[in-house]
Amino acid sequence: MKSWLECISCSARMPLTERHFLCPNCDSLLDVRHDFAHLRADTLRDRFAERLGSADLPYSSGVWRYKELVWPELDDAAIISHPEGNTNLYHSVSLGKCADVSQIWFKHEGENPTGSFKDRGMTGAITHAIAVGARRLACASTGNTASSLASYAAKANLPCIVFVHRAGVSESKQAQMLDYGATVLHIDTDFDTNLALVRQIAESGHAYLANSLNPMRLEGQKTIIFESLQQLNWAVPDWIIVPGGNLGNVSAFGKALTELHSLSMIRDLPRLAVIQAEGASPFYRSYQNDYAPLDVKPAQTLASAIRIGQPINFPKAVRALRATEGVVECVGDDEILDARSLLGRHGIGCEPASAATYAGLLKLRKAGVISAEETVLCVLTGHGLKDTQTAIAYHMAELPEIAGKYLNQPVPVEGDVSAILAALQWQ
Ligand SMILES: *Cc1c(COP(=O)(O)O)cnc(C)c1O
Repeated sequence: MKSWLECISCSARMPLTERHFLCPNCDSLLDVRHDFAHLRADTLRDRFAERLGSADLPYSSGVWRYKELVWPELDDAAIISHPEGNTNLYHSVSLGKCADVSQIWFKHEGENPTGSFKDRGMTGAITHAIAVGARRLACASTGNTASSLASYAAKANLPCIVFVHRAGVSESKQAQMLDYGATVLHIDTDFDTNLALVRQIAESGHAYLANSLNPMRLEGQKTIIFESLQQLNWAVPDWIIVPGGNLGNVSAFGKALTELHSLSMIRDLPRLAVIQAEGASPFYRSYQNDYAPLDVKPAQTLASAIRIGQPINFPKAVRALRATEGVVECVGDDEILDARSLLGRHGIGCEPASAATYAGLLKLRKAGVISAEETVLCVLTGHGLKDTQTAIAYHMAELPEIAGKYLNQPVPVEGDVSAILAALQWQ
């Protein structure tokens, strides 16, 4: 057997083709594990290089290009893929200068088919759902998971049900799930409560759970690291910065990095930095307290994708940070939205949660945790058009308690050349 499910606490093993989201013995989170014994670093690197630019599935996908490290035994014909991944890695001299670091790259996961990194996990989860014979798919979501699930469910021709808090999810994301044909349940409770509800429904066998509790999601999300490092010719940056909500991404990144390291694909481990919003920072508080158990509170932030009070992947995130000497920081909504607008001024659009990375970098740099000689990779998790309401409200100075350092307001003017020139002060 090349792949199996393994409990992170009691190490119990189960076949990957069985449907478990938690350990049946001790209720802990599960990992997908693979037998890498036969793999060699130089052969893998060559293989991954050969597959770049491939026109056909599975290797045209930025997830399945790394199939040996994601799900080696899988039959190619069973893969549900759009494809996804193959996102740009932007290098920015000017944003590196603004942050005072030696080099900065942005891995733009907003360039996935539905506009967020969730697609990388979803191709894994929905392929797995089919493999275990699921007939219905479900998730709770702050918007992007539901948009992604709805799209992949449509591709797989399976019905999906998404649990969303109507007021808490941006209109663009709601439009996506409706277009992709999901059954959208508007439930007037926050994400954490909706996740508890959908878990009960999934555990009683009514639907396959597509949230990041699902370990196959994280196997897909590992490829953000694989693809970034391949784009950097397997040279590792000193830091990789990622926003933290349910902590699936940081968990996947830690797993990807330790796997690459044990395969000798990389010599050094970068340090992971997780950035939370101040109003949704249970992981930050735990980190400050030597990873004390989460102190759960309702979450509040304008960065809706990370508005999560009880991150489900907490134990895996702790493991990832311990393995990489990682840090956790938190930033205010004003810092997040200013960072978002600043990235925009440099031609890089992203949604608020994604900009928490750059805001966190500025804070960690100021505190001296990150130094001027170091290199940094920020993962931009979602597309700039995912939350236009917040963007416009920011520029129009309509957000209470946000002063806004980089406002850009439209100029109302008559349709008349002299009036336009006068408004622009071009005479
Ligand atoms: C889901 C999401 C996050 C949070 O990721 P986790 O893996 O839950 O920590 C951050 N940003 C965006 C845009 C997201 O969609």
